[in-house]
Amino acid sequence: MDVAQKNREAVSNILFDAFSKVYGAFRSVNVFLISDPPDPKQWGEDFTHVYIFADDQPVDYLGIATFQQGVVTDRAIIRIDQVFYASYHANLDANQLSNLIANAIAHEIGHTLGLDHSALTTDVMHDGLDHTVHSLMPPSFHEKQISMMNFAIRKLGA
Ligand SMILES: [Zn+2]
Repeated sequence: MDVAQKNREAVSNILFDAFSKVYGAFRSVNVFLISDPPDPKQWGEDFTHVYIFADDQPVDYLGIATFQQGVVTDRAIIRIDQVFYASYHANLDANQLSNLIANAIAHEIGHTLGLDHSALTTDVMHDGLDHTVHSLMPPSFHEKQISMMNFAIRKLGA
């Protein structure tokens, strides 16, 4: 097995791990995550797109999202290359890296489900994810955040 092949496997294992952590964080939220485009007849524009991509252009964020408090909005972007870059400089191991990726994704999805920033540094919704903090555990939302997200989602169907 060559190095590139080995790296690809390692990266895809880390991403797999990160996505299962994201699923875990949204377990109590009335959303489902799919990789196929939603049926426009069923959903219209009432859904959130999460784009995960890498670019050559350096940026100073791990992700960005549209946000309106208590309202579902439609767009989040995760700069996976920036997450890897931060992780590389912090010497994170594979598990810490997948935690950081999962926290970045969950944070941006949180915004699109109407969540504002939290002042608590350890919170997944803290402004500016700290790789020394948010690599230590998978993302999780507290009860109030979960009910706020469910409230925003229910308003969509109303
Ligand atoms: Zn944010």
